[in-house]
Amino acid sequence: MTTTALDAYGPDVREAVARAREKVSALHAELPRWGLVVWTAGNVSQRVVVDPAGPSERDLLVIKPSGVTYDELTPESMVVCDLQANLVEGDRAPSSDTAAHAYVYTHMPHVGGVVHTHSTYATAWAARAEPVPCVLTMMADEFGGDIPIGPFALIGDDSIGRGIVETLRGSRSPAVLMRNHGPFTIGKDAKAAVKAAVMVEEVARTVHISRQLGEPLPIAQSDIDSLYARYQNVYGQH
Ligand SMILES: [Zn+2]
Repeated sequence: MTTTALDAYGPDVREAVARAREKVSALHAELPRWGLVVWTAGNVSQRVVVDPAGPSERDLLVIKPSGVTYDELTPESMVVCDLQANLVEGDRAPSSDTAAHAYVYTHMPHVGGVVHTHSTYATAWAARAEPVPCVLTMMADEFGGDIPIGPFALIGDDSIGRGIVETLRGSRSPAVLMRNHGPFTIGKDAKAAVKAAVMVEEVARTVHISRQLGEPLPIAQSDIDSLYARYQNVYGQH
């Protein structure tokens, strides 16, 4: 076993990284399963908390390696980076979207998972830079309103991450459609972010189809608010 920068971290962190490798690798299989990705596009990441009492800037993230097909992904092939997007452990280069994920973790400490895809219907709305209007109760439940559009941004610097954070900070939505690009989703962990990626594609598809029939009817803001509050606080197993 070769030594890596991860050896400088304590046993608790190394154990948490090993668990995150398993989880993030398994969650990547959900993206092709739900028809959200083609070829090597798309990525899932999860935050690993380094010191629960310390600054979150020291946290790590586990993400997909760049340019590897979904069938080849294993827990061992996942890549570990710090929140400055430096490689901490891994045999391959991290996903080209790692800087965007790291920016989100740095500026949104409550976020534990990030997902990016180019899923067809959500990306079609992104290409039009049109928010998906909240016309379905499941949208009120999951997104608490419209699914917002983020700015146009080029890969290679902070601009994608900044666009995601600036758009989602003022929104209840865990999904943003980056203009001319596609959806980024966030969650308390990687699984929640994957769920949001599945749901954003589903509602983008349904609202698109509804539009072919005529103009979808809006839901009153007070009804959106009570649907959202009920779903987020009451629904499911607690
Ligand atoms: Zn992309």
